[in-house]
Amino acid sequence: MKRLKRLWRAFEEPFGIRGVRTHWRRILGDEFAAVSPFLRRLRDPSDTYPCPRLGGDGCPRRVVVHGPEDIVAVCQCVPKACDTLKLQPADIVEYEFDWKRFCEALCELLHVVPVAEPLSLHKGLWQVGSWAVNATDHRPVFLVATATRTSFDAAVGALLIAHQTTFVVLSPTLRFSGGSAIEGLRRRGATLLSLEDILHPEGGKLVAAGTLSQLAGSGTRSEGATEAEENVFRREQDVWAISFAGKTVRLKHLAGLGYVAELLRAPGKEIDAITLTGYSVTDAAAGPNAGIDLADETAIRQVKSELDQRRTELARLAPNDWVRKGDLTSEIEKLEDYLRDVQGLQGRSRKAAGDIQRARSAATHAVKRAIDRIERDHGPLAEHLRHSIRTGNTLLYLPSEPIEWRF
Ligand SMILES: [Zn+2]
Repeated sequence: MKRLKRLWRAFEEPFGIRGVRTHWRRILGDEFAAVSPFLRRLRDPSDTYPCPRLGGDGCPRRVVVHGPEDIVAVCQCVPKACDTLKLQPADIVEYEFDWKRFCEALCELLHVVPVAEPLSLHKGLWQVGSWAVNATDHRPVFLVATATRTSFDAAVGALLIAHQTTFVVLSPTLRFSGGSAIEGLRRRGATLLSLEDILHPEGGKLVAAGTLSQLAGSGTRSEGATEAEENVFRREQDVWAISFAGKTVRLKHLAGLGYVAELLRAPGKEIDAITLTGYSVTDAAAGPNAGIDLADETAIRQVKSELDQRRTELARLAPNDWVRKGDLTSEIEKLEDYLRDVQGLQGRSRKAAGDIQRARSAATHAVKRAIDRIERDHGPLAEHLRHSIRTGNTLLYLPSEPIEWRF
């Protein structure tokens, strides 16, 4: 399922974001449609308008209103770095993120009873609503969206002092969940969920992966389930015997089922599409002639192995080990960024690139076909695999919670 990324980054801006539609569109990219219902129009128009690039001292352009139908945006650089733009009144309407409306939407999406008025109790902290666990157990639900770990700790600290009973905290990501406050949350028996994991953009709207009862309950349910039920992905000659979540199916062999089994064997480990499909890249193309410096290659291997270790650790973490989860997630992001940068620069020979491309699409198609086939007989498993398998030049099985498989 597609994840929102830019929205969560925007939440981490220390002073919030205000700007014209063009500015928001630029910040949110293809997430704009799903987020635009939560933009609140401000009374005063903007006095700046974005430049085409992150420009010099005189950018962004300044809005000059000569009359209701005569509005221009002028770059203040000397000499002008960006064109002067003619604008309509709607172009300079300024918007900010509407936390109140977002809290209301969270209630609707997660089946939480909204509070009459979502008030900001502390910087970056809102009471969203209340979760009716059962007739007598109602737990307040809070949203904590902060720009730093320190402010996350401060907001959670304020909550722990104000509320003596247990509650639910929703946080855009778990990037800041490594501090002291987490220990307090755990002792209080609070539930912490990251919006990144439970909200997704779909057809220009936000959708939730489940109701709060389903999402908050799933951690404890699957902890018990791994004890009681066995998950199996086993090939018996021409048939695969597959058990998951208490249901067993038998499927005729497909290449993609074999690939899926390989991925399940190594949770958190990236496997090259080439390795999986057995496509061969010729030695000449893969060796030093391809323009890859050997020292660089060693460094990349090192980074890749560190990445593997962290992904494996992440996949095996206890569901409530938020401290480590936050740390690992941010380390993994850094390593992935590094790899993307170096590998982008390296370039590979056309021959190797062609083989990688072929292997990539062969593996991707085979895995998709296998999951489609599984879906006909075992919906929950297909859904689990779609959530946890990433395809591409390398393939990866990374379930959000560790799952024990037998082969
Ligand atoms: Zn400019």
